[in-house]
Amino acid sequence: MFSDFTLRPQLLQAVTALAYDEPTPIQQRAIPVVLEGRDLMAAAQTGTGKTAAFALPILELLMRSPSLQRSPRALILVPTRELATQVSDSLGTLAQHLPLRAALIFGGVSARPQIDALSRGVDIVVATPGRLLEHLQTRAVDLSHIGVLVLDEADRMLDMGFIRPIRRLIAALPPKRQTLMFSATFSDDIRSLAQALLRDPVSIDISPRNSPPALVDHRVYHVDSAGKHPLLTRLLANEDVKQSLVFTRTKHGANRLAQRLARDGHACAVIHGNKSQAARTRALSDFKQGRARILVATDIAARGLDISELPHVVNFELPHVPEDYVHRIGRTGRAGSRGRAVSLVSRDEHDRLRAIEKVLGHKIPVAV
Ligand code: AMP
Repeated sequence: MFSDFTLRPQLLQAVTALAYDEPTPIQQRAIPVVLEGRDLMAAAQTGTGKTAAFALPILELLMRSPSLQRSPRALILVPTRELATQVSDSLGTLAQHLPLRAALIFGGVSARPQIDALSRGVDIVVATPGRLLEHLQTRAVDLSHIGVLVLDEADRMLDMGFIRPIRRLIAALPPKRQTLMFSATFSDDIRSLAQALLRDPVSIDISPRNSPPALVDHRVYHVDSAGKHPLLTRLLANEDVKQSLVFTRTKHGANRLAQRLARDGHACAVIHGNKSQAARTRALSDFKQGRARILVATDIAARGLDISELPHVVNFELPHVPEDYVHRIGRTGRAGSRGRAVSLVSRDEHDRLRAIEKVLGHKIPVAV
């Protein structure tokens, strides 16, 4: 319930008028954290309710510490004009019963009305980085009183080449401030930006667990148990398959398959829960550096694997736990590269396949 949060009545009234019955998962988790003044790193996509997740507590905090000067105290950076408009509209609606003002700043339009709005005094600035930097350079905006910074869709801002303006804007902010970062994906660049900007952040991840990355093409081969190894050999013979991560259900199965593949002449590493940490690290680095073309793994080992741009995943056996299917194939199709995942499914695994398809909410296409 929204009334469980320590938000003032005017905010709850606005929420009620919007017909929001229940907080969404990101709101449930982010609102208390932001109200506490903590930094936040959130994995959340558009459509999850993330705007209200930061807007509501920011409005509450601004009201708790009224200020006589009219220089902005909250800054929300977004990648595009469309998102800026959307965020500004949401803020306007949520703040409709509060005496707070926001300015909307983006490029490609006349700067004059923006300069006028800033000079009248605002509490919140919603901006794309490039144009805001211009206003900073002409001193049309004063960022020295910003207490809260939001980087919304941080991954897209980096993709769009905004890292330099962002850094320059941040250099103009007080070092003592609260910073909230929202991103749909977590590349190395995002992680290092977060490390530079956030202080002891609370991490929230509500990205949809039950759907594979959109860029993965996943298929099922129906095959009997004895046919799996020959089929895998044929799949691996494909020149396009530079490297492959092959999942088995058991440690024993992983060892046995790795031995067979090694006998076939494949450079193969194996990783599972019975291996020492040193052996796991070695297997992973052999694979990452290309000394092993194939990595055979069990689910336990798969969770923490960070292999970027792995194009090919094979489920030699389907996992025990349906959700693990998503973890497994989530190893591919990362960082915008297209991935492929194939599952070799024998008759005794049909129940498992049905359970997985239930979690996914759709059938996995069958390959022939
Ligand atoms: P966002 O992810 O912030 O772009 O929000 C996506 C949509 O969800 C917007 O249209 C919001 O108005 C709507 N929304 C946000 N929070 C809630 C909620 N608690 N209940 C219902 N709808 C919501």
